[in-house]
Amino acid sequence: MRESIVIEGLSKYYNGFLALDNLSLKIRKNEDVALLGPNGAGKTTTLKLLCGLLRPSSGAAYINGINVVEERERAVSKVGAILETPEFYPFLTPEETLSYLGRLRGMRGRRLGRRIMEVIELVRLEEWSKVKIEKFSRGMKQRLAIAQALLHDPPILILDEPALGLDPRGMMEVREIFKEARKRKTVLLASHLLTEVAQVCDKVAIIDHGQLRVYDSIAHLKRKYRSFERAYLKLTRAAI
Ligand code: ADP
Repeated sequence: MRESIVIEGLSKYYNGFLALDNLSLKIRKNEDVALLGPNGAGKTTTLKLLCGLLRPSSGAAYINGINVVEERERAVSKVGAILETPEFYPFLTPEETLSYLGRLRGMRGRRLGRRIMEVIELVRLEEWSKVKIEKFSRGMKQRLAIAQALLHDPPILILDEPALGLDPRGMMEVREIFKEARKRKTVLLASHLLTEVAQVCDKVAIIDHGQLRVYDSIAHLKRKYRSFERAYLKLTRAAI
């Protein structure tokens, strides 16, 4: 299977408002692709449709060839996702949270225990693994969100604005963690930050008003428009 994610003519109406307009996109195995666009462009809608959290008005989405609407559970088992602001039970610790989420995903026993330790180490929460989440900062919760996305070692990561609300140090830490975590994984990341996208991804799908404006490598866009910023400004409409 060469393609990890295939989106075919996907549209979404919210009460008559067209938020996503006939989007098509193919993402090959191990590619890192950003969905870039201004607020309201339709990025979150696209990711929610891909994870089966919303039903499309028309079109289809496939994860590793599996139709997300027809076989949601099987399709989504290949995905680790961070969608919107991560919320966890404040009275649980990271270890307890990951144990509960792991069991929900069919992981058990020693394998689950080992994997929990691995992901906690990866996101550098070792000293906090037995502390209740109610004491956590936004950055620490974001690191736990990354840990839960990676827990079942999924081949595909879907991330909605992973740097949102983080301070510069938090952003750099998260970027470092992902650098390690995304090796041998397909990544689809939604962001409105050009710098984040340029640092993390090879390819970009720029969307605006629910429509795909361009899908190309960042290097090629830089050559064609002289800079990534100019490409973005040319390809998206100004806010009113
Ligand atoms: P982005 O993630 O790019 O900021 P969204 O996918 O969240 O964009 O939203 C796309 C458009 O759809 C926006 O105009 C937004 O206001 C609208 N929208 C999103 N969710 C809903 C909803 N549940 N009901 C009505 N409109 C929505």
